[in-house]
Amino acid sequence: MSTRVVILGAGFGGLELSTMLSEALGDSVEVTLIDKNDAFVFGYSKLDVMFGRTTPEAVRLAYRDIAKPGVRFLQQTITAIDPEARRVTTDGGSHEADVLVVALGADYALDATPGLAEAGNEFYSVAGAERLGAMLPTFSAGRAIIGVCGAPFKCPPAPSEAALLLHDYLSARGVRDDCEISFVIPLPSPVPPSPETSRALVAAFAERDITFVPGRRVSSLDPARRVAVLDDGGEMPYDLFLGVPKHRAPDVVVASGMVDDVYVPVNPRTLQTRFPGVYAIGDVADIGVPKAGVFAEGAARIVAASLIANVGRGEQPDAYDGRGSCYIEFGSGQVGRVDVDFLSGPKPTGSFQVPSAELVSEKQYFGSSRRARWFGR
Ligand SMILES: Cc1cc2nc3c(=O)[nH]c(=O)nc-3n(C[C@H](O)[C@H](O)[C@H](O)COP(=O)(O)OP(=O)(O)OC[C@H]3O[C@@H](n4cnc5c(N)ncnc54)[C@H](O)[C@@H]3O)c2cc1C
Repeated sequence: MSTRVVILGAGFGGLELSTMLSEALGDSVEVTLIDKNDAFVFGYSKLDVMFGRTTPEAVRLAYRDIAKPGVRFLQQTITAIDPEARRVTTDGGSHEADVLVVALGADYALDATPGLAEAGNEFYSVAGAERLGAMLPTFSAGRAIIGVCGAPFKCPPAPSEAALLLHDYLSARGVRDDCEISFVIPLPSPVPPSPETSRALVAAFAERDITFVPGRRVSSLDPARRVAVLDDGGEMPYDLFLGVPKHRAPDVVVASGMVDDVYVPVNPRTLQTRFPGVYAIGDVADIGVPKAGVFAEGAARIVAASLIANVGRGEQPDAYDGRGSCYIEFGSGQVGRVDVDFLSGPKPTGSFQVPSAELVSEKQYFGSSRRARWFGR
């Protein structure tokens, strides 16, 4: 009988894992890929939607287009996970696995920041980005805050990008001089593992008159006074709040007993959880790497290579090295890149590639190559 691999979540991690297993093993493996949504959206597309550079429909990659030998996609909501029995319950039935991979990402805890839902907005979900996309054309004067409400958060450079792109957006509308932009982040610098990248971003903020407030978290919003309250008690008045909500593991993962602290503990080298035959990859796992698609993908590759080796096709992979590159929109059509390495040395390191036209095409290729590989488009 072929191995039954059940993959929970068809995001960066689940898509890469199912693709690699299909490429190497074809019909000789039985992969069930489950997601509650009917389509995948790249994280960075949310910024494009928010700033009106595209539409939500245009960035959706429908799961029905997945046609891979050995892979069956099911649009179902996972309601329970039993990691000991490797059994998953969904709104469509139950699934038994020989190998279970949890790739359910991180959810947003809007209520962890009082006032955020009533008096602010978030741009980290497609719906939130779409709502802000409808509001931004009406914002022509006043104070805008890009505020991060908790760390770790997905794609550490994304709020910096939002601040720079907001500057471009308001400038193009001719209202930048009537608006103030502030950016609050709980990290000591925009991209801590790469001082060079952080310096370039801080210089870009200064050139554009964006007030940068590092080392501070937005802890609540006061709807009556339209004030953002920071974790040191400081207050910042605002007219428009663009928030990055606090993140957490999905409820179904917490209820499964797999979470110790906030996320699922794993062996960072192999992505194995403490439950035999159960792995966790990507944002849902506590791996010691940033929450970003490239890292979810890298972890998926290690699990795939190991499962492929287990059936006698190839060598066991080296330990996961926690390396990845993230593209950073600097505004004015410029894209830079940070290359980071989290696990191969004693401490995280990073290097910076200055914005260039080549990196604009490289970022486009990053998206189009995955679209082709995962969705055949
Ligand atoms: C604004 C923004 C910009 C970003 N830019 C970048 C970037 O440039 N580069 C980069 O590498 N990363 C970027 N990211 C981060 C990236 O999107 C995530 O880190 C990445 O998607 C994580 O992959 P994952 O597989 O762990 O989880 P996800 O991609 O989040 O996938 C998890 C899947 O699980 C599904 N799911 C959850 N709960 C259930 C349930 N109960 N039942 C069924 N299905 C469920 C979800 O529908 C989802 O499809 C960005 C993120 C944001 C918000």
